[in-house]
Amino acid sequence: MKHDKLTTAPASPAEDTDLSTRVLFVSSEVSPVMKTGGLGEVAGSLPAALAELGDDVLVMMPAYRDALERMGPVEKLPVALDHFGEPVEFLKGRLPRNDLPVLLVAIESLFDRPGNPYLGPDGESWPDNADRFCAFARAVAEVAMDRVGMDWQPELVHCNDWQSALVPALLAQEEDRPATMFTIHNLAYQGVFPTDVLDLLQLPESILGMDGLEFHGQISFMKGGLLYADRVTTVSATYAREIQTEEYGCGLDGVLTQRAEHLSGILNGIDIHVWDPASDPKIAAHYDREDLDGKQMNKQALQKEMGLPEVADVPIYSMIARLIEQKGIDLVIDAVPSLLKLQVQLVILGDGEARFEQALRDLAEEHPEQVAVYIGYNEGLAHRITAGSDVFLMPSRFEPCGLTQMHCMRYGTPPIVRATGGLADTVRDVGMVDIDPLQANGFVFEDASVDALLHAMGHARVIYDQPERWRTLQQVGMDGDYTWLASAIAYRMSYQQAIAERTVS
Ligand code: ADP
Repeated sequence: MKHDKLTTAPASPAEDTDLSTRVLFVSSEVSPVMKTGGLGEVAGSLPAALAELGDDVLVMMPAYRDALERMGPVEKLPVALDHFGEPVEFLKGRLPRNDLPVLLVAIESLFDRPGNPYLGPDGESWPDNADRFCAFARAVAEVAMDRVGMDWQPELVHCNDWQSALVPALLAQEEDRPATMFTIHNLAYQGVFPTDVLDLLQLPESILGMDGLEFHGQISFMKGGLLYADRVTTVSATYAREIQTEEYGCGLDGVLTQRAEHLSGILNGIDIHVWDPASDPKIAAHYDREDLDGKQMNKQALQKEMGLPEVADVPIYSMIARLIEQKGIDLVIDAVPSLLKLQVQLVILGDGEARFEQALRDLAEEHPEQVAVYIGYNEGLAHRITAGSDVFLMPSRFEPCGLTQMHCMRYGTPPIVRATGGLADTVRDVGMVDIDPLQANGFVFEDASVDALLHAMGHARVIYDQPERWRTLQQVGMDGDYTWLASAIAYRMSYQQAIAERTVS
C-alpha cells in the first residue's frame, strides 16, 4: 500500500494542499541529533516548517554513531544495498523535538564512529570522506527512485552542501526521476578530492570531465549540485549575487553565472522555539521586549560564569563562531587593544584554527578583568552569551546567511556586522541616512579592516550610553520576524519551479 503521507506534523491553518509536495530533504547534519553549524540548524527546522505548510517531508542523513544515540527507537527497512561487500542499511525513526520522519543510512565502516561528522580526532578531514559521502549520495538516489521497498517516491529531492551534492548528478542519469534542488550553505566548502578516488567512487563516466565534476584536475562534489540540480538556491539574496563574482565565487563563479537563471537566494529563518528569551531553559532569567530586566540578570550570571567583574554599566561585547578567517576573528583579535580602551568587556566562545585559539587564550590571560574566552563547542554557553551580552560581533569576510546575528537580535543584543551576504540582508545600521531610526537593529560596516570594525565598535559604545536609543535598537531587533514561515513559502515556490522545469534525461 502506498504511504499517503509520511509526515504527521499537525496541519496548520496555512496548510495549502494544492502546493503540497513529497519532499526528500537530504543533509549531512540535522539538529538536534547532529549539528556542527548553520546547516544542522537549518535541517533541524526548515523541514518542520514545510511539513506545517502541508508538505510530506522525509529527512535523510547518515547514521553517525552519536546521532543514533540521540534518536528514539529506529526500525530497519527490509531492503539493504551493497557497498563493496558491506551492507547499506536504512533505519527509519523520528526526529526528537519535531517528530518528523527521518531515514538514516547505516554503513558500519563509514558512519559508525564517534565525534564530528567530517573531522577525525586530529581535527583533519576523515581520510575516507569522498567514499563516505559518495556512498551516502548513492543510497539517497536509491530512495529517491523508490528502490528500497518503501513504496514512496518524492516529487522533489532537496540536497544541501557538498556532502549531498552528488545526488542531483546521480539522479540526472535516471528516467522518471524526481526534480532536484540544491542549496549552497557555504560555497567555500566544496568537497574537492584528487582524481585517484575515482576508482573507489565508481561514478558514471558521463558526469566526469570538464563539463561535469572535474575541477582543476580534481573532482568537485559541489559541482554535482550546481550543474545537475533543476534549481540551485543559496541562503540569502546578497550571497546569491556575490557568488557570481570572482571575489566570492571560490573558483565556481563561472558555473554559477551559467546557472544564473536557475539560481536564487532564500534567507534562512531560525528556530524561534529553541531561541526564545521568554522561555529558553538554558538561560538564568527570562525576559521579553516589554520587560528587559531579566537581561540584566543574565548579564550578571554571564560575568560570574566567565570570571569577569560583575559591573552593570560596562557593555559586554561578544562573539560565538568557528574561529576561522571567514568569521573575521583575526580582525577582532587585532582590534582588542583599542577596543578595551572603550571600557568594555569581551566574551568569546568558539573553536577552530589553533593560531586563533592561542591568540585568544593569550588575550584572556593578559586582560583577565576585561577578556574571557571559552575554547570549545558549548551550546548552553552559546545561549547564555546570546542572552547576557550587550553587543554581538560578526565581522565576517563573507557570510552566506548567518544565524547568530538573528539569535542575538531576538535576544535584544544588537549585532555589529560587515555588509556581506545574509548579514547585509538582515541588519540595518543605526547611522544609515536612509534608515528610519525606528528601523535600525544593529551596526553595519563595509571594509574588512580593523579600522572599520573599531569605528563600528566605538559607535555602538556611544549609543549604549544613551539608554533610550539603546532600548529602541534592542526592541526593533526583538520585534523582527525570524520565523521560517516566509522562507518555507519561498522554498515551496522554488520546489514547484524545479518540478516544472525538471529536465528529462
Ligand atoms: P556557520 O554555519 O558558518 O558556522 P552560522 O551563524 O550560520 O555560522 O551558524 C552557527 C551556529 O553554530 C549557531 O547556531 C551558533 O550558535 C553555533 N555555534 C558556533 N560555534 C559554536 C560554539 N563554539 N559553541 C556552541 N555553538 C556554536
